[in-house]
Amino acid sequence: MSEEKLQRAINTLKESGVRITPQRHAVLDYLLNSMIHPTADDIYKALEGKFPNMSVATVYNNLRVLRENGLVRELTYGDSSSRFECNLSDHYHIICESCGKIVDFHYPSLDEVEALAQRVTGFTVSHHRMEVYGICEECQQQKTVEH
Ligand SMILES: [Zn+2]
Ligand SMILES: [Zn+2]
Repeated sequence: MSEEKLQRAINTLKESGVRITPQRHAVLDYLLNSMIHPTADDIYKALEGKFPNMSVATVYNNLRVLRENGLVRELTYGDSSSRFECNLSDHYHIICESCGKIVDFHYPSLDEVEALAQRVTGFTVSHHRMEVYGICEECQQQKTVEH
């Protein structure tokens, strides 16, 4: 399944004339198999064993190339580091306020909100973001253990 996605992503890059370096391949593979919405630092830590010469800057550079080719989405949350994901289908995020974990969930896209916003403000709407916040199950359990 993700093998097929990886192959499709690689084909997209090839068609755009992007060189597939081993690091680029590894970053893409890692993101496709990761459900945690990693930061560039997370990706670096996961891959540094495999590529001792790779720097965080290389990871950032690869992420930028992948983003520019529409394969990776960058999620920015205020001043904390960007997080990255390969799941480009429409979905929303729920974020744990205790550990910062981001989990995907599906809900019909709120197109009416965009339409209404456009109508009442005169803006040309490009997209919207919605995040739900709370405490994840693991953190809830940890709290119970502590007390
Ligand atoms: Zn948590
Ligand atoms: Zn996501």
